[in-house]
Amino acid sequence: MPGLFQAEGIVLKSRDYQETDRLLTVLTRTHGKLEAIVKGVRKPRSSLRNGTQQLCRSRFLFYAGKSLATVTQCEVQDIYGPLRQDLKRLAYAYYLVEIADGVVMPGQVNEAMYLLLQHGLEALGELEPALVARAFEARTLKLLGLAPRLEACALCQGELKGNGRVAIAPASGGALCPECRGHQGREYLVSRGSVKTWQQLNRLNWSYLKRLQVNPLLMGELGEVIPAFLEYYLDRRLRSRAFINEIGGDNFDGAGKNRPVAQAPGT
Ligand SMILES: [Zn+2]
Repeated sequence: MPGLFQAEGIVLKSRDYQETDRLLTVLTRTHGKLEAIVKGVRKPRSSLRNGTQQLCRSRFLFYAGKSLATVTQCEVQDIYGPLRQDLKRLAYAYYLVEIADGVVMPGQVNEAMYLLLQHGLEALGELEPALVARAFEARTLKLLGLAPRLEACALCQGELKGNGRVAIAPASGGALCPECRGHQGREYLVSRGSVKTWQQLNRLNWSYLKRLQVNPLLMGELGEVIPAFLEYYLDRRLRSRAFINEIGGDNFDGAGKNRPVAQAPGT
């Protein structure tokens, strides 16, 4: 419906459009994900310049046209300064943005996802980026109603016997007991500690995340299996992951590439 409306939003994407304009994808808190034009913003003295940069959280005044919205005013709330000074944090910020963009459909209102992104970007400014990313992925899965079954076998509800490693398969929606293994596509073998940490990530809030101590080995395992889960359900590769790997960022200690992934027998 044409007319003016106000909304707080985070700029997910910004690309040049025509001579001096930009076309934004904005995830708003109250009006869903929308595309909006910012007219004349590439002229040197445009007052809309700051608040419409990618990864900015701003208060916008939009005019809803017949097809696209136009940004008529904006006031910056947070530019996430610490993320812009550090390539690794910035790469992770783009990753969170890519996930939010993939999860929310155009026009769909998803306040929970908006708040998750807002708090995730804030946490990225101060905490270990890989840990923030894992928490963000785990909570995204939860928001989508796709939190994996980890305390018992996702297929037969049977016990996950023994104290050894646990097989987790995205296609099964969680962990697999020994009897159910081998038929659910790719499986990831992870330690009990990783399973426990994943459960904690589902529950903890951002302020408690600071106190969570996770050893690098578990972070390595979770850095493979949680994104794999998300990619399986989004049915797409998350492209920013490749860049994070390129700069050595997804390794908890930042020392190099990820470990190879455990394969199920026969896959
Ligand atoms: Zn089973």
